[in-house]
Amino acid sequence: MENFYSLSPDKIRGLLEKQGFSQVHFKAVYQYFYQDNADRDKLLQNLPKELIRHLESEYTFAPIAIAKELQSKYDSSVKFLLRLADGELVESVLMPERARITLCISSQVGCRQACSFCHTGRMGLKRNLSAGEIVGQIVTANQWLKDHPPWLQAVRLTESQRVSNVVFMGMGEPLDNVPELVDALKIMVSPQGLSLAPRRITVSTAGHLDGLKKLVSENLGVGIALSLHIPDAKERSRIMPINRRYPLEEVLTYLRDAQTTKNRHFLIQYTVIAGVNDSLAHAEKLAHLLKGIKVKVNLIPLNSFDATSFKQPDPDDLYAFQGLLLRSGIRSMIRFSKGQDIDAACGQLAITSQ
Ligand code: SAH
Repeated sequence: MENFYSLSPDKIRGLLEKQGFSQVHFKAVYQYFYQDNADRDKLLQNLPKELIRHLESEYTFAPIAIAKELQSKYDSSVKFLLRLADGELVESVLMPERARITLCISSQVGCRQACSFCHTGRMGLKRNLSAGEIVGQIVTANQWLKDHPPWLQAVRLTESQRVSNVVFMGMGEPLDNVPELVDALKIMVSPQGLSLAPRRITVSTAGHLDGLKKLVSENLGVGIALSLHIPDAKERSRIMPINRRYPLEEVLTYLRDAQTTKNRHFLIQYTVIAGVNDSLAHAEKLAHLLKGIKVKVNLIPLNSFDATSFKQPDPDDLYAFQGLLLRSGIRSMIRFSKGQDIDAACGQLAITSQ
């Protein structure tokens, strides 16, 4: 049975038409299943009984099962191990931050990009997630928040707070899965669906140029992050094989053009790895490459995982690197990942035992 949460607004409208129901029901159907603070009895009263029966017989509504949850002792982040209908597992991470809650979600089971410093990359790709499984991670997290008022209290948020920001920085390369990604985004930004502001959603990519073009052409207004990591083409191809297919320079040229036509600004992610990409020469080259593009650079010190030969940078090198960017007029922040004690930090998500 198809998952209800895979139905984009267009698909719901098509379904209503096909089944002979009026389009006026679209709003109520969506609100009923996505908005837990809506007056559900009232919504239900106004929906035709046959429509409810049809939906219930044709679709599943189960949010994704939480197989395991781990709470960080240091920063209140929570990692969910989620079991999909076919038994595959993915992870998502809930991160409170002042007045908002960010959910880091997965777009695939595993990943085929094989970046050498990333734990998920070592798993290979098992399969794409459906739009319903992407959206379902948010529905599941919202349900968890509803069921855990003490956690919300502990992080000084009100009981009605739900996921406010979403980053596609969990497992997978979202732009290797564009059709499902786009459907999921449409549900996320729909005012009757999850009602998330587009600028509070960030799609992160290792530099999949074809996917990027398709995403930008959808005009959804969501934020885009590029995992750049190393400015030199040869060096980048060595640790990020995607660079051989989509060279960084071409991706940046595209971003520069997209910016002038659409006036967006982009987030650059730069995982800093000792002896690999943390020299001042790298910082200079990066500053040069980014000239003329409106960007913000997040420097993320490498999170290590078992069996990796890569090491965290020396703090002095990290600050010197940032200093050079700042002096070149590039906005740059050092971001220490949350959830390090529960293996929920960037690049640490991987399913190693079932
Ligand atoms: N495939 C997408 C989405 C994954 S996002 C992308 O590459 O953007 C996960 C982010 O964490 C990426 O920027 C990734 O490069 C980074 N990352 C991977 N391994 C890491 C590690 N060991 N330490 C810190 N960041 C890491």
